[in-house]
Amino acid sequence: MSAKPHIYLIPVMAPGHMIPMVDLARKLARLGARSTIITTPLNASHFFRTIERDRKDGFEVAISIVEFPCQEAGLPAGCENLSSTTTSEMTFKFIKAMDLFQEPVEKLLQDGDPNCIVAGAFFWWANDVAARLNIPRLVFYGTGCFPMCVSKCLKMHKENGLLDSEEFVVPGLPDEVKMSRRQLPEEFKEEDKSPFAETYKKIVAAESRSFGMVVNTFQELEPAYVRLMQELMGIKIWNVGPISLFYGSIEDKAHRGREASVNDDHQDCLNWLNSKKPDSVVYICFGSMARFSSSQLVEIAEGLRASGREFIWVVGELAGDDEWSPEGFERRLEGKGLIITGWAPQVLILEHEAVGGFITHCGWNSLLEGVAGGVPMVTWPLSAEQFFNEKFVVEILKIGIPVGVREWTRRTQEREAVKREDVEKAMRRLMGEEEGDELRIRAKNLRDSAITAVQKDGSSDMDLKCLIQEIRVYPESSHFSEV
Ligand code: UDP
Repeated sequence: MSAKPHIYLIPVMAPGHMIPMVDLARKLARLGARSTIITTPLNASHFFRTIERDRKDGFEVAISIVEFPCQEAGLPAGCENLSSTTTSEMTFKFIKAMDLFQEPVEKLLQDGDPNCIVAGAFFWWANDVAARLNIPRLVFYGTGCFPMCVSKCLKMHKENGLLDSEEFVVPGLPDEVKMSRRQLPEEFKEEDKSPFAETYKKIVAAESRSFGMVVNTFQELEPAYVRLMQELMGIKIWNVGPISLFYGSIEDKAHRGREASVNDDHQDCLNWLNSKKPDSVVYICFGSMARFSSSQLVEIAEGLRASGREFIWVVGELAGDDEWSPEGFERRLEGKGLIITGWAPQVLILEHEAVGGFITHCGWNSLLEGVAGGVPMVTWPLSAEQFFNEKFVVEILKIGIPVGVREWTRRTQEREAVKREDVEKAMRRLMGEEEGDELRIRAKNLRDSAITAVQKDGSSDMDLKCLIQEIRVYPESSHFSEV
């Protein structure tokens, strides 16, 4: 093989997957590989300029655009990202479209010169494609070792009726972690009824037969779970994060994921933060996918106001009803709060010294970005594996305070609103001197070890370099005779 292995990355089309994989592709190109990101036209438009900048700087990173078969799968034209699906039916069709994506992607790879495929877990078919091309397939999950271990251990013990009881201790973990049935994602409870059941089975089968897994975590964050994950999976695992710390420039951070929409300029947000005292502002964001009813928005708004704390709140795109208006609320706050109704430059905000707390839905990227920013968190899980992540933040890392959500819901489902009193109480505990400060010290220590992990010769830096080396010498590095 030529000195530079050519790695093709296929991210699942959702911001929480695209963002870290684009960053990963850029990093691999800086460490001696060539990277090509395969994605659809609309998704490519969110990071096209960043990649152009890298290319001008001489890095071998590229985008290959493949049309997304949305209409073949029954989706409207232009529905190229999971975040634009609004019902379970649409999500299901989207997953079908990701299956149909195989054919054009395989054609593209056959015409290219790939040495490795790193594909999101939903692309279970990438294993077969890689086998036909005689190259390794790596899985990128987008979540950490702790939630993956919880998930695996629960599935292993499902048969003996464990999950039928209201509360149980997750078996097989190094720590005692209690969960309740209501907090479990639906695939644990009604596996066969879930429209995603077949896909989940294929994902699990493919992941255990893949060459390895790339995880956005770092050794020092969850050593016991990094080890357990290795034991449970039996395949190679490279822990390479926090990926959000790969790049230092303001430009990189400000344009991460999408153009920020703070008056089309991240500078307004930074100016506002620059006028605040250290650790005085709370940042509130529920990721890229969640949508809240306007009654929930009112509860949050009133809870924030009652807490008397300063904050930046990312409301996201509003449904357009007029029960609650962010502009009206912002005016009434008289400078105490900044509201963002589009995309926020999250990493820039979290690492600003004025930010001293984070109210988060516990998406894995947000969790790790909070760790990298050294901020304690109020945990407000909604769906996916976010209730597992809450346990990790609150009970294992001990840098979180739960707001008190009890029930897992699908992303597109109606949910019981968290009350203003609970928001206010959590804000006060988070920013208070007693409990908040203790959590903040722990969070800042974790941030220091996160920074060390990605620096030269840190654990994540070493894992990334080993990964490239193994791809370079493949198939000698392979420990499987068949895929
Ligand atoms: N994000 C952002 N600005 C926003 C909302 C989200 O930059 O206004 C980024 C955030 O930094 C993170 C990703 O989007 O990298 C969200 O991923 P996460 O795993 O936290 O949650 P998901 O969106 O997948 O639920």
